Amino acid sequence: MKAALMLAAALTLCACSAEEKKKTVMETADKAPEQPTAKVEKTDQEWKKILTPEQYRILRQAGTERAHGEVYKEFKHQGEGTYYCGGCNAELFTSKEKFDSGCGWPSFYDPSKAKNVVTRDDFSGGMVRTEVLCAKCDGHLGHVFKGEGFDTPTDKRYCINGVALKFVPAAAAPAPAKEEPKVEKK
Ligand SMILES: [Zn+2]
Repeated sequence: MKAALMLAAALTLCACSAEEKKKTVMETADKAPEQPTAKVEKTDQEWKKILTPEQYRILRQAGTERAHGEVYKEFKHQGEGTYYCGGCNAELFTSKEKFDSGCGWPSFYDPSKAKNVVTRDDFSGGMVRTEVLCAKCDGHLGHVFKGEGFDTPTDKRYCINGVALKFVPAAAAPAPAKEEPKVEKK
């Protein structure tokens, strides 16, 4: 009986940590998702069905993930690839715009698809900041800061919640169907 109870307790613990992990990792996929062509609109109930609780808290309720958390460690070790919206799959950033700001959240100096990223003034929390959102689903991504002196082409820091992103490694992208025509060298 005692052993059974202990086993039950151990199983519960395992379930908790697996659940915890699911919440704090960045979603990855092995191929580029289909791009939304129009505005993506869903009710809160519909969003809750397709997002993890942590994604919902960040994307739909403008929450912020823990700095220097699991997702940030993951981000730092990711190689080349593309970052899509965790809510609607719109392409947002690529590893080309990624840089190490040391701030504890995934940082980019520019979006890769500017039309998919919008900003607006954010006066919440007694601060004046510029909020970054997905233009397709209005999901909250993070904030952008300018003129901090980072040695990047824009000196902007798009400080983004990793949980709000979906990563597709470049190596996983499908190979081009046809071989590029060879260009004759002069
Ligand atoms: Zn989106």
